[in-house]
Amino acid sequence: MPRWIRATNNKHCPVCNGKSWCSWSDNGSLRYVTCMRNSLGAVKSFVPNNMSATAYLHIIGDGESKPYTQVLKQTNIASIERRHRVYGELLKLSLSAFHKAYLFERGWSIKELDEVQYVSFPETHVRNELVSNLAESTKLEGIPGFFIDTTNTWRFVGGDGILLPVRDEQNHVTGFQINTQDAILRYYRSGKLDVDKTTAYPKYIWLSSAPVIVDKGVSGYIKRKTGVGAEVRPHFSGFSKPEDEFDFVHVKEVIITEGILKADRIRFSTGIPTIGQPGVGVGNNIIAKFVADANAVIVAYDADWRKNDHVKLAMGRLLTELSSLHGNDGLFVAVWDEEFGKGLDDVLQNGFYEQVTFAMAKDWLNEHGVCK
Ligand SMILES: [Zn+2]
Repeated sequence: MPRWIRATNNKHCPVCNGKSWCSWSDNGSLRYVTCMRNSLGAVKSFVPNNMSATAYLHIIGDGESKPYTQVLKQTNIASIERRHRVYGELLKLSLSAFHKAYLFERGWSIKELDEVQYVSFPETHVRNELVSNLAESTKLEGIPGFFIDTTNTWRFVGGDGILLPVRDEQNHVTGFQINTQDAILRYYRSGKLDVDKTTAYPKYIWLSSAPVIVDKGVSGYIKRKTGVGAEVRPHFSGFSKPEDEFDFVHVKEVIITEGILKADRIRFSTGIPTIGQPGVGVGNNIIAKFVADANAVIVAYDADWRKNDHVKLAMGRLLTELSSLHGNDGLFVAVWDEEFGKGLDDVLQNGFYEQVTFAMAKDWLNEHGVCK
């Protein structure tokens, strides 16, 4: 087991340079950093066991462990409009037969896949051709996933798996999460979707070209200096149709869950537009503003809030924030027994529609809420 080092006055966080709160693994090499401040470049966001705030997992260069005092300076991230234009080109890629088969098995139809526009992370030759075409016609600076290499050539990096577009309130593609190939292969090996806690690889990572520190003993260097990390932002699924892309529709009913793919799946199973947080608590304020006038708001976090106090705490915070702008009328928590499925997507997939009940958020907070 690696040792975990906490940031102190003497040892600053290698990601944000902070003197407290963050921590990192130290088993001879510096690799995993749990930064509490900087989401840019993180591969994953989550709520650590002993905290209620969101942490960002960064995987950084290998080599000797030493406390870094430098802050990684990054190129500014491109505006959402510019990202949407470039990412629109990625949506023209296709889903591999293997990924299609995987998604069909998990209940997706062709029509649904056409609408969400999932694509497979392209193979090297496709990627190189795509990026050289793009670089000729478009400015790629500040677009997560792209960077200029040491030969002055634009590159596109990510990871094998399915690219899941993360959309904003107006259907712009703001970024991508990648459902990793490792997790998909594991599903076929074990039939289980949940990657257990001891597994080193994540199920979802952000498409990112964030700079990384590669530490070679005394002479460390920064790889991908011109790259940029992802913006960790909630995903809005089904709020406007692709054909009237930027035509904002008044939100009548809305579901809030955790997960990008999960939000898309729930949206299709229920017909209700769904917001997916890429980690509990991420973007609570954006969401609270967006749903303030909705007739009904349903929070549907995974059923494990019953045994995970940190998820419960995060849920309490979300509900409190929602109720402050929306009011308690029409604010609900979807409740079901875990034996019917962990996530609402599983429950609906398994046909247990009638097992889902709706508690008034006010009552849920009275019973389970910690912060008021
Ligand atoms: Zn930090």
